[in-house]
Amino acid sequence: MGRRTGNGTRALLTLALAAAVTGCAAGPDTTEAAEAAGRRSHGKAGAAGFAVQYRTGDKAARATAYLRSRRILEKAADRLNDTVKMPHRIPFVVRACGAAEPAYDPETGSIDFCVEHVDEIRDRFENAGRGADRPDGTGGRDAHVAAVLEETAYHEGAHALIDRLGLHFTGREEDVADQFAAVMLIGQGRAGDSKALTAATDYALAAEESPFDESDLLDEHSLDGQRAANYACYVYGAHPDRHEDLVGDGRRVTEDRAEGCPDEWQQARDGWRQLLTGHLKQSL
Ligand SMILES: [Zn+2]
Repeated sequence: MGRRTGNGTRALLTLALAAAVTGCAAGPDTTEAAEAAGRRSHGKAGAAGFAVQYRTGDKAARATAYLRSRRILEKAADRLNDTVKMPHRIPFVVRACGAAEPAYDPETGSIDFCVEHVDEIRDRFENAGRGADRPDGTGGRDAHVAAVLEETAYHEGAHALIDRLGLHFTGREEDVADQFAAVMLIGQGRAGDSKALTAATDYALAAEESPFDESDLLDEHSLDGQRAANYACYVYGAHPDRHEDLVGDGRRVTEDRAEGCPDEWQQARDGWRQLLTGHLKQSL
């Protein structure tokens, strides 16, 4: 369920697999799934839909202040709520998790949004010298970090939708969750393209940081390098005329793959449109 693999997170694999099994067992029957979801809500009051809760206390002041001031999760939650009818309350719980491992928890029906993840992304861009802030203190790195966090919110939001709405599909859930994030970002127009490419950059940097390990093949996620290429392919495929510069030797999308990217994008977007039939408030 977590966003990515990493050297420090493999110990969580067993837990994640157990969580995935629980998610799969949500049941094919909508009523049954809804009742199960109701039980998981632990009787908490509150409006349906995605929401944000801060539970960091005095910890992680910098990351928390950053999230709050830019309203990154609030805006992502609003966009999710404007797009999908979610009959259950799904909180993004901002907290110190002990690892940079944001994840949807099917047991609680909430999304742990770890402050360590915020710091990890900022560190990764800083270490790579990417997105330096401008002299006037605007834009730059903050915008990069915000883009990746928004992608994370949609990826984890997809797990919540799959679980709570009882959606069924073939293929790996982690790839399908990335596809939802791509659809939510690219649907925002050119600014969204840029966010999706920033997320791709983050995955590419993560791939450079953690050399391939055979244990990665056992993980539920695709390799970070593959995820980077997938996002770039969707961006190109949605608007080939806008993004010719993404394609070619040494670029984000190979010539061979580029040919199929429009179809890959269409499959991803149409697949989610179909999955969310009856649940959409506006077209994806
Ligand atoms: Zn995931």
